[in-house]
Amino acid sequence: MNGNLIIVSAPSGTGKTTLVYEAIKRDNFVKPSISYTSRAPRSGEKNGVDYYFVTSDEFETMIERGDFLEWARVHGNLYGTPRQSVEALRAAGYDVILTIDVQGASTARRLFPEATGVFILPPSYEALVNRLGMRGGGTSDDLQLRMQNALDEIAHYPNFDYVVINNDLNKAADELAAIILAERCRLERQTEVVEQILQTFRR
Ligand code: 5GP
Repeated sequence: MNGNLIIVSAPSGTGKTTLVYEAIKRDNFVKPSISYTSRAPRSGEKNGVDYYFVTSDEFETMIERGDFLEWARVHGNLYGTPRQSVEALRAAGYDVILTIDVQGASTARRLFPEATGVFILPPSYEALVNRLGMRGGGTSDDLQLRMQNALDEIAHYPNFDYVVINNDLNKAADELAAIILAERCRLERQTEVVEQILQTFRR
C-alpha cells in the first residue's frame, strides 16, 4: 500500500523545518519531500538538501511540464512540490511529509483528501516576534508584515486535522512523530495486512 501523505504548515518563524527533521529522526518510514524554489539559497542552505534551487525560468518550465503536485508564490518567490519523487517514495511504502505554505496545503488536500494535515503553532504572539526578531536581517516594517502574514496563515488552522504547539522542540517532535505513527495504524490503511492475517485463520 502507498505511504501516507502528511502536510505540515505553519507561519514563518515557527520552527517547522527543524521540528519536521526532528520527527523524521524518530521514524525510519517517513521521508521529507524536497521542494523546488526560485528563491536564492540562504547561508548554510544546500542544493538538494534544503531545496532544489532553480531560476524562475526553470521553475516556469517545470510548471508547464506538469512536474509539480502543487506550487505557490510565497513572499514573492516560487515554491513547488515535485510530483515524481513524492509518488516514488509513497509507492515504495514511505510516508512523505510536505512542509508547505497554507495555499499549497489547501491544493494538496484537494488532490489528496486522504492526506493528514498538521498545523504548527508558536506558543504565543510574543514567542513568534522574538523568533522572527532573532532571525535578524529585516526592518521593523518587515517584522510587521511577517506578523500580519502569520496572523493570516494562522486563520487557516481549522482546515487541518491536528495542531502541534512548538513550545518545547522535543515534546513537539514527539507529538508530530506520534501523529505520523497513529495515522499509519488507521484501520483503512491496514486492510491489506489485516486480510493477510485473516487468511492465516482460514486454512
Ligand atoms: P522559506 O523561504 O522560508 O524556506 O519558505 C517560505 C514558505 O514557503 C514556507 O511557508 C514554506 O513552508 C513554504 N514552502 C516551501 N516549499 C514549498 C512548496 O513546495 N510548496 C508550497 N506551496 N510552499 C512551500
